[in-house]
Amino acid sequence: NRQILLASRPKGAPTDDDFRLVESAKPEPKEDEILLKTIYLSLDPYMRGRMNDAKSYADPVELDQVMVGGTVSQVEASNNDKFAVGDWVLSQNGWQDYSVSDGKDVMPLGKNPSNPSYALGIMGMPGFTGYMGLLDIGQPKKDETVVVAAATGPVGATVGQIAKIKGCKAIGVAGGEEKCRFAVETLGFDACIDHKADDFAEQLAKACSDGIDVYYENVGGKVFDAVLPLLNTKARIPLCGLVSQYNATELPSGPDRMGMLMGTLLVKRIKMQGFIIFDDYGDRYPEFAQDMGQWLKEGKIHYREQMVEGLDKAPQAFMGMLEGKNFGKLVVKVNEP
Ligand code: NDP
Repeated sequence: NRQILLASRPKGAPTDDDFRLVESAKPEPKEDEILLKTIYLSLDPYMRGRMNDAKSYADPVELDQVMVGGTVSQVEASNNDKFAVGDWVLSQNGWQDYSVSDGKDVMPLGKNPSNPSYALGIMGMPGFTGYMGLLDIGQPKKDETVVVAAATGPVGATVGQIAKIKGCKAIGVAGGEEKCRFAVETLGFDACIDHKADDFAEQLAKACSDGIDVYYENVGGKVFDAVLPLLNTKARIPLCGLVSQYNATELPSGPDRMGMLMGTLLVKRIKMQGFIIFDDYGDRYPEFAQDMGQWLKEGKIHYREQMVEGLDKAPQAFMGMLEGKNFGKLVVKVNEP
């Protein structure tokens, strides 16, 4: 049983030394338990937060323990009559080959799901996040302008495509020309601006000629700086993530702009609300699954995955994601089905 452990807590961006690959014996399922073999491991930005020893909405990973993570697995042995060998489940095995479960914390995916890894992306946590944040907090109305960064990632791509389904103008922000082209040509964004461009703020202002009604916040930093002056009166900001800050060790230098931010929120009566998907919306998953299942069937939603082969590649892939090296939902294929 290969396992990737948290070897040390990163200072700033994680490095190879913060992870350690070890081999241990395959766990044995006891009475009523199942043995799960990891097929797909999801890599997500929130994992960076779990590497810190800081109080948050979830506990940190302990040093020398297996890195946490959502997984799609197959039942390899079963002492539980609710599960048969070969069944697929959505589970939380973490960064390892095998895990045992009593079956209570897993979601069955059936005997032969057509796209099992989608349960980690468009039909799972990131898709659900984009859906609830945009629709419940963002409240987009027809012809409004919706802006989202990390536009080709699983959350941002979902937000942009749902915004289009709801009749909005969708403006993406992404890193690099190739991602921006994909956002427009394949995902159907009206425009996508490269945040690495020198004149990024000017380009964004030009694309948002009627201002911004919904800014779905995934990244923070200089993208938010460019968005702030463009926000319309009564704009909504679902505060989903701040990935540009996850590796930061101190506040950015420069003048304190808190007063300006608060002043804008006040004068323009802007609503900004943070949310943690399963804590705040766990009971609304069926509603999402129904809509998203339908949209996928109708070809209204396009989904891009980046599949990395091999558990040993997980640390590099994860570190790359925090710098925008991924293109689409990052998934590790840990074992063959
Ligand atoms: P992605 O697959 O989109 O990966 C993160 C992306 O962030 C990178 O690919 C990169 O895209 C972009 N990025 C990284 N650094 C910067 C930067 N400095 N400036 C601008 N963009 C940057 O991730 P997800 O779709 O899985 O997640 C998106 C956000 O949603 C994250 O902030 C995550 O934490 C949050 N989230 C929140 C949840 C909640 O419950 N609140 C649940 C799930 C996700 P590019 O190259 O295009 O810049």
